[in-house]
Amino acid sequence: MVMKYCTRCQLTKATNEFYKWKYGKDGFADWCKSCKKDHCSAPEYLAKQRKHKKKWRKVNGSGIYSISLKGTDKVYVGKSKSLKERKGAHFGTLKRNIHHNLDLQNDYNDYGKSAFVFEVLEQVELSKLDEKEVECIVKYILEGKDVYNKKLVLDAKYLRKLLDDQKRIK
Ligand SMILES: [Zn+2]
Repeated sequence: MVMKYCTRCQLTKATNEFYKWKYGKDGFADWCKSCKKDHCSAPEYLAKQRKHKKKWRKVNGSGIYSISLKGTDKVYVGKSKSLKERKGAHFGTLKRNIHHNLDLQNDYNDYGKSAFVFEVLEQVELSKLDEKEVECIVKYILEGKDVYNKKLVLDAKYLRKLLDDQKRIK
């Protein structure tokens, strides 16, 4: 039986007590399985992992974003599974003058990239992206903003109901 010394608990154990690790000198991790488990279940470790995940999501995760034209009420609202990529995709197509939203494209052509601000409005789990996007567009419309892609919600039952409710209140 091949033995290996664990640098954490300082015990010598059979190599099947170690996880395989391709970067290890002998093809095994430096710590034994139980040390690894112990380490990875520690509250500090879990907290650190959560923080990393949150940070990663903030940059790359799914959610709702807006692209607004500075100094105006004009705003485009969108959803994406990968916010960082989506930002690039929007500005990439705007630059090439092939963006699907003509109003946004026209303003981009008039004012240039620096006139727009891309903002992550909310991180949202994948299953709720559609719903949240509509909700956000509706919210902006009700606030009196000029939403570039308001067409997206014009047929939505949700919007009609909300607007009806608003009328009733007034
Ligand atoms: Zn160990």
